[in-house]
Amino acid sequence: MISPVLPTYTRAPLSFKKGQGPWLETDDGEMYLDMGAGIGVCALGHAHPKLIAVLEEQARRLWHTSNLYEIPNQQALAEKLVEHTFADTVFFTNSGTEAVELAVKMARKYFSAKGQPGRVEIITFEGAFHGRSAAGIAASGGAKMVEGFGPLLPGFVQVPFNSIEATKDAITENTAAIMLEPIQGEGGIRPFGDDSLKALRALCDTHGLLLIMDEIQCGMGRTGRLFAHEWAGVTPDIMTIAKGIGGGFPLGACLATEGAASGMVAGTHGSTYGGNPLACAVGCAVMTEITSDGFLIDVSRLAGHLRQGLEGLVAEHPDIFAFVRGEGLMLALGCKVPVADVVNAGYGEKVLVVPASDNVVRLLPPLNMSTEEVDEAVWRLDRAAVMLERKLDCVNDKGLQA
Ligand SMILES: *Cc1c(COP(=O)(O)O)cnc(C)c1O
Repeated sequence: MISPVLPTYTRAPLSFKKGQGPWLETDDGEMYLDMGAGIGVCALGHAHPKLIAVLEEQARRLWHTSNLYEIPNQQALAEKLVEHTFADTVFFTNSGTEAVELAVKMARKYFSAKGQPGRVEIITFEGAFHGRSAAGIAASGGAKMVEGFGPLLPGFVQVPFNSIEATKDAITENTAAIMLEPIQGEGGIRPFGDDSLKALRALCDTHGLLLIMDEIQCGMGRTGRLFAHEWAGVTPDIMTIAKGIGGGFPLGACLATEGAASGMVAGTHGSTYGGNPLACAVGCAVMTEITSDGFLIDVSRLAGHLRQGLEGLVAEHPDIFAFVRGEGLMLALGCKVPVADVVNAGYGEKVLVVPASDNVVRLLPPLNMSTEEVDEAVWRLDRAAVMLERKLDCVNDKGLQA
């Protein structure tokens, strides 16, 4: 019999009743160290006092009015995002994939408003993840995501990961945009690197294309800059964000330059909930925290510490771990054993990590952990690796006896 919840998820048999910073507590009072932070969502950890305060205050005053009326804290959050980014304008959504949906619509509308309605194609990269909406799965292209869902939204062309040559070759007179995650998340924490971002920007400039960056996972301070593309010194025309911006409250956004957004006039897009007062109250508080003096410097410092710890794990456990990659607090441990075994061994040692493609485990911890908590996480992962080594030894011994 089907479960009351549609069985589309493979869930761990774990459930938590309470969180505090990077810690999660089960019903039995067991404490888990959360190095996944709800897939990079809880950027400020669990139960951050400032987020609780603004949410409670807003909850007592006003939950929802719709976008028929002015929403002052939506305006305030848009102003903050505009102030701190390349963007001139922002549309708020409830999720990442809705932000991607708008990015696709915006890019197409841009050309159609300029009298080039045939320019609808968007080039994406193998391993991409842009969410689960119709445009999101068409853009992502992964077999599991698209099979059986009928004709995909046309207009997406996929090229090998990080291949500038293939991107160049894929550009036609119908190309509207190139879309990428500066660091692929679900794809296995794979950074494009600064040179590629610069090359892609240059390609877009040469061919009059829009550059769309999906910073839903790598943005909001995760790499030690507010947005990952800042390291490369180039900017997109359109950018999608979500995950960290709400700190756990559902919130996403599509940011754009005035030029890229020029087709999106009144009536061309909308959302009932997008940018609602509760979400934007929290979003403003998250932005204030992440853009506060020294916050991102601390992220980089902590990231260096975590990376060093993970490099140590690779050196200590060469049969379990192969490499560390990623940027800032968006790191992956390449695994030599099945990644699910590593995640499960982590559960055994009460440390949560998240699997990703390419047989890596992801670490996307809260940005404001202490170095002691990072040390504790590395120590727990070390014990998990020891357990896995014992299992390997057992298997090998059996092999020898046989
Ligand atoms: C999570 C994610 C999405 C989808 O966001 P949802 O909120 O799940 O719709 C899209 N792009 C990237 C890069 C993501 O990490």
